[in-house]
Order: sequence, then C-alpha cells, then structure tokens
Amino acid sequence: MRHVALVLALLWSWCGVAAPVQRRAPAEPHGWLDLARWGASRGLGARVGGKGLQLDLVGRSTQISFLADSARVVLDGTDIRLGTPIRRVGDRFLMSERDLQTTLQPLMSPPKRPATRPIRLVAINAGHGGKDPGNIEGRRQEKLYNLMVAGEARRALERAGLRVVMIRQDDTFVELESRAAKANNAKADLYVSLHFNAVQGPGSREVHGVETYCLTPAGASSTNDSGHHGGGWHPGNRFDRDNIVLARMVHRAVTGGTELEDRGVRRARFKELTLLDMPGVLVEGGYMTNPDDGRGIYTPEGRTQLARAIVDGVLAYKRLVERGAAE
Ligand SMILES: [Zn+2]
Repeated sequence: MRHVALVLALLWSWCGVAAPVQRRAPAEPHGWLDLARWGASRGLGARVGGKGLQLDLVGRSTQISFLADSARVVLDGTDIRLGTPIRRVGDRFLMSERDLQTTLQPLMSPPKRPATRPIRLVAINAGHGGKDPGNIEGRRQEKLYNLMVAGEARRALERAGLRVVMIRQDDTFVELESRAAKANNAKADLYVSLHFNAVQGPGSREVHGVETYCLTPAGASSTNDSGHHGGGWHPGNRFDRDNIVLARMVHRAVTGGTELEDRGVRRARFKELTLLDMPGVLVEGGYMTNPDDGRGIYTPEGRTQLARAIVDGVLAYKRLVERGAAE
C-alpha cells in the first residue's frame, strides 16, 4: 500500500503538480484551534524553537510568540495574557477558541468604528479618593498620585482636541458603580482608569512595571485568578473586541514611552469596567513599592511622561479604529 502511495506521489510530481497530502492532520479537540494552521490561513509562517516549547508565527510585519503551557503571548514585543494557557499536543500548539475570538482575532483585525461615531469624549477616572486612599507606601497615598496623573492626562487629551469628563476632580470618595454611571451618563466614547500598584512581603521591592487591564470575557479566567474560575457576562463584555485593542494600544504606548517594564495586558473583572457602556481600560502605572517605579510616580516629570504615554495610546487607538487599517 505504501508503495502505491509512493508511486502516486512520484507520478504527481512528474506531472509538475505537488503531491497530494497523504494524511490529514487530526482534527483539533473541541474548543481548541491549531495555531500553525490558523497562522497559515493568515499568511503567517510557523517556526518552532525553544526545545520545541515555543511557537513563533511570523509574517512580513508581525511576530507572535507562544509558549507551551503558558498564557503569555508576545505580539510584536507586547506581552498579552490569555485566559487559558497554550496546550501542546504532539507537535501542535493549541489555543482556546475563546482566546482566539476575544483576544487574538481582534488584535489582528481591530473592529472599525462607524464614520458617524468618531471618538470625541474620554472619561478619565482617578482611582480611589476621599476615605479610600488606595495603596499606601509610607506616607504616600495612591489616590493623590492617581489624581495628579489624571489632571495631566486631561490636559494632554484637550491639547489633542478631545473633550474629557473627569470622574473625580478632587479628593472625594466615589462609589465604583457611580464612576461607571458618570461615564455612561456623559456618553463618553472611552474610559481610562488610573491606578498605581503595590505589593508587600519578601522580595516585594523588586516587583516593578506597568500592567494594563481590560474586562475578562464571559466564561474566561482573569489573569490574577489563582484557580480557573469562570465568570458570567457583564454589560462591559459588549466591548470585548474593542477593550483588548484599546488595552494593547495604551500598554504599548506606555511601555514604549516610559521606563516601566512590560508586565502585560491583563484581564480582570474590576467593578467599574463591568458596568461600562463604552470600551475601557485600567492602567496600573507602576509599583509604589519599587524604588525605580517610584521615581516615575513621585516626580512631576515622571507623572507627565506617564500621562502623555497613556494619551498617546488613546490617540493611537483612535486613529486605528477610526480608519480601520492595521498599524
Ligand atoms: Zn488603585
């Protein structure tokens, strides 16, 4: 039988036609997708390295790297976290269908905005406030630094010709539900929430970098979940495809425009993000507990640099989705 196949293959090649594939690759398990095959359908070549544990999909202007058993994907240099780790089965790398639909696909083909609905109004939320100080490092309270960066971001957005609605303008407490409601009532086109991180315990001073969050898709795991708890649908999930693109553009601008290390575009079900009527992100712009990040957070120059980078990301997103072409 094998001889017959060989002779047939030779005959095909003699005729100047490629030999037909003798064996089809086995079908993917339900809910999973073969990344090399997906890449081929988009003109991306597959390259396996890292002792067989890393898959790179490479195109003319794109490189996406996947690691077996890891939820971390590097897309053109930006760290993006999936809901489910990549599985390697035999020599194939498999991604969950949900991650494809809610993360990879929109990043590769960003959704366009109708020409009649350009981005004009951005809601800026300074996290915490009033009785809620947020993270505390010595005598420094997160809420105050959030507010200062929010003011800088407002000025940068207005200079770029956009209008801004500030969720809070002073040191007052606002419920999380009211923050989303204020943005919704103002009919803001985008929502950007500003926070700073902190971590306690041994080795905590070494933890540093920026994390950009957007809402976890329904049924998926959030990045910082210890287990794999799914979660239900929220109004903010109407914008899953926009959320991840906005998060990526903001994150890329911040990692490129500041000294902050890339800790990834991550997923969380933060209350304010669950309730939004528009795409939204939450930026954790560095660790208050790290001396290097602190130089950015605790100086006016550092905060201006961060605010401008975030606004650059918002403007890059606006250009991308308003004209709909890949950048
Ligand atoms: Zn915070």
